[in-house]
Amino acid sequence: MSKNPSAQLILVVEDDAAVRNLITCALEMHDYRFEVACDGENAVLDAASRNPDLILLDLGLPDIDGVRVIEKVRAWSTVPIIVISARTEDADKIGALDAGADDYLTKPFSVDELLARVRAGLRRAGMAAEGPEASVFENGPLKIDYAAGCAYLDGEELHLTPIEYKILVLLARNVGKVLTHTFITQRIWGTSWDSDIASLRVFMATLRKKIERDPAHPLLIKTSVGVGYRMQRV
Ligand code: CA
Repeated sequence: MSKNPSAQLILVVEDDAAVRNLITCALEMHDYRFEVACDGENAVLDAASRNPDLILLDLGLPDIDGVRVIEKVRAWSTVPIIVISARTEDADKIGALDAGADDYLTKPFSVDELLARVRAGLRRAGMAAEGPEASVFENGPLKIDYAAGCAYLDGEELHLTPIEYKILVLLARNVGKVLTHTFITQRIWGTSWDSDIASLRVFMATLRKKIERDPAHPLLIKTSVGVGYRMQRV
C-alpha cells in the first residue's frame, strides 16, 4: 500500500482473488492507494465512506449485480467508474455504460491497459473539477470552438453537417469515455431504434472521412465493437 497519504485512492471491487491481486499489485507499484471490496453491498458502503478517486468494478459479483452498484453510487457521486467484465457479460457491459460507468475493460486485460484507463479516468475527473468547461476544445489536429459552433482540423475549418457536428461535440465533451450507441442516438435523435443506430454508423463514416487522416485506421474516434464509440486523447 502506498505510504503517500495524498496518493489517489482507488476502490477495487472484485470477488476473484487472483484478479484482485493482479490489480492491487499494479496499483501499489504505481503509488496509488487502494481499498478492496469483494461484493456489491460493501462496494457501495466503501464508495460512500472512503470517497475514492476512482472505482474499478467487476460486473459479476456474488451478491448484487455490478450495474446495480453503479446505479446506487451514481445517485450521489460522479466518481469515475471503470467496469471490468468477462466476455460473457457483454450485454451487461452496455447496461453498465448506460447506467453511468465511464469506461470498461474486458478480461483478460493487460496491466498496462488497466493503468492507462485509470490515468485517463483520473485526468478526466480532475479536469471536470477545475470548473466550467473551456469554450475551445483541442485534441491533436482537432479544434472545436463551441461558442462559434465551428470545428477545425489542422487549422482548416471543417464543413460538417449539423448532425456530424453534434456527434463530434458529444464525443469531445466526453473525451476518453466510451459512449454507447444508445446513449449517442438518444442525445442526437431522442430515440434509439435500430434504424437510428444504422444512421449513426453512416454519420460516423462520413464524419471520419472529414476528421481522420486515414478513416480506415481512425486515430481520434475509436470504435468499441458492438458497444459504441470513444474519442481518445491524441
Ligand atoms: Ca466476478
